[in-house]
Amino acid sequence: MKVPLSRPEINRDDINAVVSVMRSPYLSTGPRVSQFECLFARYIGARHAIAVSSGTAGLHLCVRSLNIGEGDEVITTPFSFVASSNCLLFERSIPRFVDILPSTLCIDPEKVESAITSKTKAILAVDVFGHPADWDALGHLARKYGLHLIEDACESLGSKYKGKLCGTFGDCAVFAFYPNKQMTTGEGGMIVTKREEIARISRSLRNQGRSEGDQWLVHERLGYNYRLSDLSCALGISQLSRIDEILKKRSVVALYYNEILSDFGEFVSVPLVQKEAEISWFVYVVRLSDDFSQADRDEVLRILRAKGIGCSNYFPPIHVQPFYKTTFGYKPGDFPIAEAIASRTIALPFFSSLSRSNAEFVCGELREAIAKLKANRHE
Ligand SMILES: *Cc1c(COP(=O)(O)O)cnc(C)c1O
Repeated sequence: MKVPLSRPEINRDDINAVVSVMRSPYLSTGPRVSQFECLFARYIGARHAIAVSSGTAGLHLCVRSLNIGEGDEVITTPFSFVASSNCLLFERSIPRFVDILPSTLCIDPEKVESAITSKTKAILAVDVFGHPADWDALGHLARKYGLHLIEDACESLGSKYKGKLCGTFGDCAVFAFYPNKQMTTGEGGMIVTKREEIARISRSLRNQGRSEGDQWLVHERLGYNYRLSDLSCALGISQLSRIDEILKKRSVVALYYNEILSDFGEFVSVPLVQKEAEISWFVYVVRLSDDFSQADRDEVLRILRAKGIGCSNYFPPIHVQPFYKTTFGYKPGDFPIAEAIASRTIALPFFSSLSRSNAEFVCGELREAIAKLKANRHE
């Protein structure tokens, strides 16, 4: 690949931080874990932060901590990474998908309200591609109907909705630190919550169901090993210490793309940012206009990859994933807005060190790929 789809930003301080843990006696369950949690909680403005082994693990523990289980319905979005819905299936709870708003690509609160039944226990909303969901409307519904509200903030570290940081809106929220996210710990995630009970149960569940205190072999509940090691936490501390700088670089890259693509208007639309939102860029996803088909989009991806450009179709809707189709009988057409958007998205290379000339190269090849499609059509 000449320009990869993503690339983590690792500097000398990050490397030194990890190496210093390797020279210490505490590779896991040591002092870096609570240090990372304290610093992260302070950054978000959350009362509690619980480090876990992945974003998926964090979502699973939120579901468990809220006692969402067999037969309970949770209203969520089909336009997301599959983990935001799988975490419900782990506990035999039922995802009730509703369609999205074309403006933000996040769940549509009006459709959420129509989907609420006596079995509904929670709303699980995702800040898609870093754009905050409509948290005022969702919070209002959660209070009105007595539902839990879970924020999947795995793509929105540093984003703001009406001036408040993402991760502060629900009963609990989850961040993720896979290497393609805004900051990384290799693998890793973080639950944040203002609720003491959720924090306490999540801490126990991530550590084999142990209670607090130091009785290492007393297991109060069915737990997991969802711990994050001190090696990962040291990397997290180092990355978090320059998060503003990292996010600034990413927003500069988004600006390059916005500028270069400004005269592609007829064929490609760039990401929209609503006026109530400040976005922390996770990915840069453009959309081909409506006269292109999914096959056209797939052809553009193929052409770009052949030129050494990393790109992807973020995200194929969850309800048409093979496992969901066979388990729940979903079919194309069930969530038409999510499907129409998903069939035309192209995630372009996006990372903090992407240069202006990289962006120009990518957009030049995108322009040529589109021109080729149009020429073929007129043959
Ligand atoms: C990245 C991501 C997750 C969790 O990812 P992990 O790989 O488990 O850390 C969950 N939900 C969304 C929307 C994501 O983008």
